[in-house]
Amino acid sequence: MRVCILGPTGSGKGTQAGLLSQHLHIPTISTGEILRQAIESGSDLGQQVKTFVEQGELVLDETMITLIRDRLLQADTAQGWVMDGYPRTAFQAEELDFLLEELGQRLDRAIWLEVSEGQLVNRSLERSRSDDQLEVVQRRIQVFQERTQPILEYYEMKQRLLRINGEQSPTGVSQSIYQGLGV
Ligand code: AMP
Repeated sequence: MRVCILGPTGSGKGTQAGLLSQHLHIPTISTGEILRQAIESGSDLGQQVKTFVEQGELVLDETMITLIRDRLLQADTAQGWVMDGYPRTAFQAEELDFLLEELGQRLDRAIWLEVSEGQLVNRSLERSRSDDQLEVVQRRIQVFQERTQPILEYYEMKQRLLRINGEQSPTGVSQSIYQGLGV
């Protein structure tokens, strides 16, 4: 199974990606996590993306596409994966389809966790990550609406979009996802 979970920070996509990975015994590919680790380690990638992540802006598509390509070439992804936070732009979505075609793989479903703006802000502020200050959270929501929302239409058109009410309890959300995927 190859699945992307789409939603802004605070939508619960990290939690749900983890649960779905465990349920299906396949790895999670969390781009936010990879970037945060790179920043912490001070690597070249980390230095390159630090300002974007800290300000709630998207990292450049070129950087992200290379990062995902490298990750999908690793052996543990051969049997499937759950992507958390990728793709986030129309360009990334299209490039992902090209890359998967090249690898002989196919995206089964894109899951959209629908959560109201008020809930998103509250949930993000309840955490204590350094990129979770109010202005950054609001900026990330705005960026999601401007850059990521359009790709929902892309997946809808391809009949691959699965809309899930993300305002249920974490267990409720995961049950709806399993049901929607038939797993
Ligand atoms: P997340 O934990 O998924 O909310 O990601 C945290 C931050 O990492 C985002 O606010 C972006 O700055 C960056 N990021 C994560 N995934 C992507 C992506 N697919 N494209 C661009 N930037 C990303």
